[in-house]
Amino acid sequence: MNIEKKILQTIKKYKLCNKKEKILVALSGGKDSAVTAYLLKKFGYNLEAIHIDLKIGKYSNDCLKAVKKLCKDLKIKLHVYDIKKEMGSSMCYLRSTIQSKPGRNKLKNCAICGVIKKWILNREARKLNASKIATGHNLDDEAQTFLMNIFKGSPKLSSNIGAITRNISDKKFISRIKPLFYVPENEIRDYAKIHKLPVIYEKCPCALDSYRIQIRKFLEKMPNKTKQNIMKNFDAIYKKIKKVKNSKIKYCEICGEPSRKQICKKCELMKIHK
Ligand code: SF4
Ligand SMILES: [Zn+2]
Repeated sequence: MNIEKKILQTIKKYKLCNKKEKILVALSGGKDSAVTAYLLKKFGYNLEAIHIDLKIGKYSNDCLKAVKKLCKDLKIKLHVYDIKKEMGSSMCYLRSTIQSKPGRNKLKNCAICGVIKKWILNREARKLNASKIATGHNLDDEAQTFLMNIFKGSPKLSSNIGAITRNISDKKFISRIKPLFYVPENEIRDYAKIHKLPVIYEKCPCALDSYRIQIRKFLEKMPNKTKQNIMKNFDAIYKKIKKVKNSKIKYCEICGEPSRKQICKKCELMKIHK
């Protein structure tokens, strides 16, 4: 099945979005989110885009340029969130300050960056009246996360995996959708190249999660069919995981964003570096 059919099937099967609502695509500058935007636009969805400029030196400059070109070509309105202007520092500075605190030095770069980016996306999507946030997560990303959680002995953490966030329902929480959930990375790369999408192929210089890299290398040798089978297992056990994980949403006492605890993950991280 070709990539376009796979995405249409995923949208239909999981009721990811409809053409009346506003979808905010989170563009990183890479191929996955670019293909997500390209195809949602092609299918006629109502799209705007957001790019979080993390200020990671030349890498971020190149990503911003690529995102601007893509949005110009596709005629998508782009919102740029400048982390230095909005939060006072670059992602590298925020991250290393957090990691320099006792007990936090083992936190992975991507874990910190991921929490902060999710917080920004939810807040900005709400401000822009979007009802969904679309990201470029693909089959390889999701299979890696699922396997990592199993190998760590924490399969319940996988309740956040899925083509749409299924276990959080709150008026302040904007659902995240992943139209590429069942599409292998190599197919996305080929598609981006065939359509000459302006994207950055180099990896983020801060992506140093050695455990994920190990799992990625392990999965790279597997055929795409095996990755699909891994996610079929995920679908089969999801209901059991959901029963355990589906807890009530509160609002963070510091920032007011939806959170499972009294203080959200982002504020928990940020407050320790003050
Ligand atoms: S690779 Fe990691 S550090 Fe780099 S932008 Fe992505 S989440 Fe952030
Ligand atoms: Zn908070």
